[in-house]
Amino acid sequence: MKIRKGFVSNSSSSSFVCEICDKTHTINCYESDILKRKFASGRCSHVLCKDHLIEIPDNDLKETLLAIYTIGQMHDRINNAKTIKELRVLATESGTTFVESQCPICTLKSISNTTAKDYIIAKMKTENYFTEEMLKEAKNEIREKFVSLEDVDVFIVECEE
Ligand SMILES: [Zn+2]
Ligand SMILES: [Zn+2]
Repeated sequence: MKIRKGFVSNSSSSSFVCEICDKTHTINCYESDILKRKFASGRCSHVLCKDHLIEIPDNDLKETLLAIYTIGQMHDRINNAKTIKELRVLATESGTTFVESQCPICTLKSISNTTAKDYIIAKMKTENYFTEEMLKEAKNEIREKFVSLEDVDVFIVECEE
């Protein structure tokens, strides 16, 4: 079975490679219990082990759940929930979907070497070679200057123009 980052499918099973730790998750297409799956895919299209997701703070929980769920019936349950505990239970039912505020990649908690390299190339107009130190510095700079991966992408595109 061919494996690459993100979603891969053949007739009987699918596998996902976590974009943070490279762990492979394989699922049988007929397996229906998505709550047991150990990976999740975001609206941002990043695929990760569920363990890496950023926990939603209590005060954002309701809004975030409303954004995660697209089904009206779930919205009623979320709006009717009276306690944080009830909302946390609903959060565990969200299965394998998450939103950008939960994504370590989109929020720059985790920056890939590829992003760091693209940033250096855009900024320095150099493509020679990258030392560990350069990548580390670039990652620190990215975290200081930007709040999301989208901002970094906008910067890189603007540099290319
Ligand atoms: Zn992982
Ligand atoms: Zn993401």
